[in-house]
Amino acid sequence: MAPTQSRSQRKAAFLQAASAMYEHLEGWYDAHPAATFEELEQELRQQRRALMGGALATLIVGRDSGYQASAPPCPECGQPLAFEGYRSWTVKGLEGDSVLDRAYYVCSACAGAAFSPSGSETGVAG
Ligand SMILES: [Zn+2]
Repeated sequence: MAPTQSRSQRKAAFLQAASAMYEHLEGWYDAHPAATFEELEQELRQQRRALMGGALATLIVGRDSGYQASAPPCPECGQPLAFEGYRSWTVKGLEGDSVLDRAYYVCSACAGAAFSPSGSETGVAG
């Protein structure tokens, strides 16, 4: 299944994740009614990292997974590559870790040479 989504689907995915994060915080506060502001903030900080990482993955992969309708040529031998599927790539960001699903192509002519087209995220990921 292609991970790319429409803008409204990406927004819905983010809002669902944000809603789940807030519900978690409400539940945590219910279970810890005497929590201090600092303890609440600490709990929220953990959730925030997951939300931020997920939001960036949705934003990036939702727009471009690297999948190409016509398979790109092998960078080594020039033969058309075959789409293998999506592989996960974890980027450790300042605000959270993002798991990016990238299209992955292999070349049968080169005994397993592989290629994943770079996307817009490579500029920030290095
Ligand atoms: Zn090749």
